[in-house]
Amino acid sequence: MIRYAPLRALLGATLVSLTLAGCGTTSPASSSASPSAPPARAAAPRPVVAQRPPTVAPGPGGLTPVFRRGTRDAGKAVALTFDADMTADQGKRAARGERFDNPALIALLRRLEVPSTIFMTGRWAEEYPAQAHEIGNDPLFEIANHSYSHYSFAGDCYGLPRLDRERIAPDVRRAFAAFRAVGARQVVPYFRFPGGCYDAAALRALAPARVTAVQWDVVGGDAFATDADAVARQVLDAVTPGSLVVLHCTRSAAPVTEDAVLRIVPELRKRGYRLVKVSDLMRR
Ligand SMILES: [Zn+2]
Repeated sequence: MIRYAPLRALLGATLVSLTLAGCGTTSPASSSASPSAPPARAAAPRPVVAQRPPTVAPGPGGLTPVFRRGTRDAGKAVALTFDADMTADQGKRAARGERFDNPALIALLRRLEVPSTIFMTGRWAEEYPAQAHEIGNDPLFEIANHSYSHYSFAGDCYGLPRLDRERIAPDVRRAFAAFRAVGARQVVPYFRFPGGCYDAAALRALAPARVTAVQWDVVGGDAFATDADAVARQVLDAVTPGSLVVLHCTRSAAPVTEDAVLRIVPELRKRGYRLVKVSDLMRR
């Protein structure tokens, strides 16, 4: 981790901002949330069960539907989601040693047995094929689509390069192809807009890809955060039954997410919450 800090510093805020592109960037207030030791449970083998994931019905004219959170029928369920961001033009940075993955976070989610939805870019899957394969074959997880390029799908979006409208559906299909190429099996037809930026035109252009767009109601605030307690506090203060939380799975620009999850998960469970995947939240 430390060896990459100088690189990030050199790259400057503008370039680095292209990595996470505001997938929930805020300035959380500092907090005094106290970390507690997670239960150490051995990860048991989990069977792969094929089940068709639920989707939201398209709007008029096949317009891409948008899912933001579960209904109250979900009960005390909450979905933690992690955006595995890597932009199409960040290959050189990865080659220089910058890490857009976060294996320790994935290992922690396994250790704590937290069902999670990973919104992965196709470029990320190409850079980390072994990890994408492992994630995509572990029933604890499901891989959802975060575009291939992580470019902006709608106008000015945190400085991301703009994707032309006619390239929107092909870009999303290219990400699904990247997941297939690494042998990922637990792939769901959900899509998260880079930066969460979208408009009616983007929803129309996305319609041929036949996905359900997934936003969130709770911003984790882990992008560029340096205080895990503050991230944990922000999440814990905002979660309500049926919440959908956006966090990140990329060390490059979300270095404290693992520590934050270590605080968030035991506290949510203490409050009686079940942690579920987006597909489970959508099912209710
Ligand atoms: Zn993103």
